[in-house]
Amino acid sequence: MAKEKDIVLRHPKDPSGLLDIIRDVQAHFGHVPTEAVSEIARHLKLSEAEVRGTVTFYHFFSLSPRGRSTIYLNNAITSWMKGRAAVAKAFEDEAGCRLGEVSPDGRIGLFPTACIGMNDQEPSAIVDGVVFTCLTPDKARAIVRGLKAGTSARDQVLEYGDGTNQSALVRSMVSNNIRKRGAVLFADHESGAAVRKITAMTPEQVIEEVKKSGLMGRGGAGFPTGLKWEFCRREKAAERYVVCNADEGEPGTFKDRVILTELPRLLFEGMAVAGYAVGAKEGVLYLRSEYSYLKPHLESVLEELRREHVLGRNVAGSPSFHFDVVIKSGAGAYICGEESALLESAEGKRGEPRDRPPFPVQFGYLGQPTTVNNVETLAAAAQLIVRGAAWFKGLGTPKSAGTKLLSISGDCDRPGVYEVEFGTTVKELLEMAGAPEAKAVQVGGPSGNCISSAEFGRKICFSDLATGGSIIIFGPERDIFEAVGNFMDFFIEESCGWCVPCRAGNVLLKRKFDKVIQGRASEQDLKDLEDWGKLVKSTSRCGFGQTSPNPILTTLKNFRGLYEARIQKGTAFVPDFDLTAAIQEGCSAANRQPECKESLHD
Ligand code: SF4
Repeated sequence: MAKEKDIVLRHPKDPSGLLDIIRDVQAHFGHVPTEAVSEIARHLKLSEAEVRGTVTFYHFFSLSPRGRSTIYLNNAITSWMKGRAAVAKAFEDEAGCRLGEVSPDGRIGLFPTACIGMNDQEPSAIVDGVVFTCLTPDKARAIVRGLKAGTSARDQVLEYGDGTNQSALVRSMVSNNIRKRGAVLFADHESGAAVRKITAMTPEQVIEEVKKSGLMGRGGAGFPTGLKWEFCRREKAAERYVVCNADEGEPGTFKDRVILTELPRLLFEGMAVAGYAVGAKEGVLYLRSEYSYLKPHLESVLEELRREHVLGRNVAGSPSFHFDVVIKSGAGAYICGEESALLESAEGKRGEPRDRPPFPVQFGYLGQPTTVNNVETLAAAAQLIVRGAAWFKGLGTPKSAGTKLLSISGDCDRPGVYEVEFGTTVKELLEMAGAPEAKAVQVGGPSGNCISSAEFGRKICFSDLATGGSIIIFGPERDIFEAVGNFMDFFIEESCGWCVPCRAGNVLLKRKFDKVIQGRASEQDLKDLEDWGKLVKSTSRCGFGQTSPNPILTTLKNFRGLYEARIQKGTAFVPDFDLTAAIQEGCSAANRQPECKESLHD
């Protein structure tokens, strides 16, 4: 009890710091003990239910022990494609427990986790906070043996990745795999040039410049950045905030990880530009927990930028320009990539989406007007301010200005990060990545679009194939249904559960999908999949549920033949379950006739 109290009392009595307290308790005990829940609730004047509800919301927190060492094995489809099953078995054999369990001696906890942003170097896992990539069964066994022998995960990393991954503050085996350096993000940038330039402009002029450039949000939704900043600035409020969404959780996306690793100066300067434009003094970088290994590096860059007057008080020598950035960490929840859920999480709560309106530009972080922008968007904003709107608008297509950073993974020779101009075709991407035989490409992650070779002439841009950056390639031998099943399981696991269409609808869709795959379905089941998918999309409360049926709907559209090959055609399907018979006894007792005229399918 004394230890729990010590950890809790180290933190201020500020409910927005709830996740930080839980994180410290979890790190110390390997879980959040009951006594700690009570202590935290007392300290922050919250109910125990609120504390428990927050602990149970996030993947990396737990009320029950997760082992003295905890292994989180990535469950992304790209991991499956690169041999995850054999690695999982090796972990299980050596640890002496199944995935989802703790070994009988409590030494090792072995758990699956959603995409950790390492799709170009799979299979991957996070072991006691340390990322391991390119795992093999032998390496998995060696890791567990090392842990049991007392060698920490950190000390088991003997080779580092490229670039800044080798620096003293990162020392990670993660690789950047930068395959194509484009004209915006990877162009030369003189640190401080953007903030120096805007001090000679009014905030309104900065917003106008960004509007003229045509910069649109790079997270996938594509909202015009200048307009968002204008809406935020217009709100009358004591404080305004800039929040950078560094919670890229869409399976197959890892490009923000590379910006955070190699271009954090550009990103933070972009946040300062946004701060100046909207009138904010504080920015929050919401960093996904899976990228926590980058935090010391990012904190160090922030310190440097303060010394150089790119951040802090009197930015660029201006007496009225003050802007600084704090880093807040998530704890493993895909939904926190949704901007209002992210704000809830940044405030220390469960990451559940908010009702809108009001929008974050009106009622955002701590209830104040807030612009939430993606990592790539803010980095691009810093470059366009220095080089001008006309330069930026000259890149890409008339309606999609600039470049897009893509994370390409799956069945290809050269997985990694590519910065391409908008308007690049999928065919060109496949040539760059070395995948001439691809049979399908998942554009935009599970919530995006699975296209067949007939559509490889389509373009990456907002008016055709919009994407936050995830491109997963499926080769000629790949079973598309394996990917669809993986994506639907992902959505079922990650739904915040707030609304029924998403919470229950995705489960029903997956069951129906399984029925088709198992060859027990009829033509009606395919129609049900379409109808139910559209229903979930049209009735869900947030973007998560509004896109979660896409793996089924887009493959039904683009790979219809694969589905039709699995169903029983031309015969009346006999379902496994006869509802009329099942309720007959109850109806007889109540002296009523069953109303079901036909047996229920499945
Ligand atoms: Fe939560 Fe899904 Fe509803 Fe969004 S759509 S609020 S994720 S249950």
